[in-house]
Amino acid sequence: MTRTEKNLEHPMRFELRGTLNDQNSKQHIPHEFAVPAGATKLFLKLEYSPHRATGHDYDNMLCLTLFDPEGCRGARHNNPDQSLTITEFFATPGYTPGKLQAGVWTVFIDTHRVLPPDDIHYTLEIDISSEPLDEIAPQWTKATVKARGRGWYRGDLHGHTLHSDASWDVPEFVQYARNYGLDFVTLTDHNTVSPLAQLDSLAGDDLLTMGGSELTTYHGHALALGVRQWQEWRVGTGITMPEIARQVKDKGGIFVIAHPKSMGDPDCTGCDWHYLEMMPGNARHIEVWNGDWAGESGNKKGLDLWYGWLNKSYRMVATAGTDIHGPPSNSSLGFNYVFADDLTESDILNAIKQGHLYLSSGPRLELSARNVRLEHVMMGDVIRGDDVTLSLHWQECQNSDVIRIIVNGGVIHEVFPAERGMLERALPDEADWCVVEVRSKKGDVRAVTNPIFVGGAAAWR
Ligand SMILES: [Zn+2]
Ligand SMILES: [Zn+2]
Repeated sequence: MTRTEKNLEHPMRFELRGTLNDQNSKQHIPHEFAVPAGATKLFLKLEYSPHRATGHDYDNMLCLTLFDPEGCRGARHNNPDQSLTITEFFATPGYTPGKLQAGVWTVFIDTHRVLPPDDIHYTLEIDISSEPLDEIAPQWTKATVKARGRGWYRGDLHGHTLHSDASWDVPEFVQYARNYGLDFVTLTDHNTVSPLAQLDSLAGDDLLTMGGSELTTYHGHALALGVRQWQEWRVGTGITMPEIARQVKDKGGIFVIAHPKSMGDPDCTGCDWHYLEMMPGNARHIEVWNGDWAGESGNKKGLDLWYGWLNKSYRMVATAGTDIHGPPSNSSLGFNYVFADDLTESDILNAIKQGHLYLSSGPRLELSARNVRLEHVMMGDVIRGDDVTLSLHWQECQNSDVIRIIVNGGVIHEVFPAERGMLERALPDEADWCVVEVRSKKGDVRAVTNPIFVGGAAAWR
């Protein structure tokens, strides 16, 4: 890696040049610059060549993460436009507007993908202006959502906008949630929380908006659900993945291992989960249903990974996320059906923490269990294993569906259901956990519950 710097004609405009090769892939390369007092506008532009790596079907991918003297001002992950403008009132999507504090700022080039054999030559242009601004700050007022009380609420926990690499803006994303009649929606742009203020202004009595981001690291992706502050994601810069998970939990959020068996490098940079100390380590949530069930989603392997962790006595909760990046092309998206005390962000998060949810593209399921002590629990809960009887109610199944009762990873019972119905079944004595799947004729999951855990809380990690 080589670097040079030159001032152009204006004292507040300069260029940094450098060269990278594949040895510099998956690094965070800092460039510091001084912002003087009175600055009103910052413009940054990264240009690099070649974009398409010789002999590959993939582009090299460099992204910018910007820090002012006090903290992170955002990133715009995997967007073809790697230029940005920030003023007190305006910022390019992905970044946060606000006063330009005088002092040392740092822009990092995040080298998500640098493929051999080429050298990449880049230029980083920095232009700082102190001209007066005639802009007005957009007013994003957080909308209120009316209480509805205890019940089932349906929503998406994973989606993107053009604040990172999606094709649509925040209002279009919110309209998608309304078109599908969702009760809540979470926006999880890659490595930034810049869209959340606008998102929250678009909530209403029909739709709760929830905070989040997708921590898009070089060796795995994780969702920070319910967290509205920027979360450090750059593993190896003084932070480990278990520490990141702990920080997300300390902020009241939920750390979810996202699409762990998705295709990885170089197709999708860092998309499959490689953190050996987080198998599952201190993670307790895993996204087993990401986007379409069928095809190359890796969902089947994700489900198997989850079942394997359950068999090792980890009390893992499964989630679904569409990971939507633009107008949906199919109508059978997997959503989360959450049993919460109310339609508030904290109640939805609490219910997800406890595993009080199932994942479905249509079928409705209610799974509970009772024992001879007359203890009665729902999915996500633990029950002591004295003659446990399972109770399942279903609706909106299809003739071609099969309902499977899974105990310790194996099928113990199958039903070819009517559109609605119910069954009760005694669990075998050796049962440690039990879930219910609804599968299509092709074998794709159309719904899956979270587990009922058997054996008392002490039996579970
Ligand atoms: Zn991802
Ligand atoms: Zn995503």
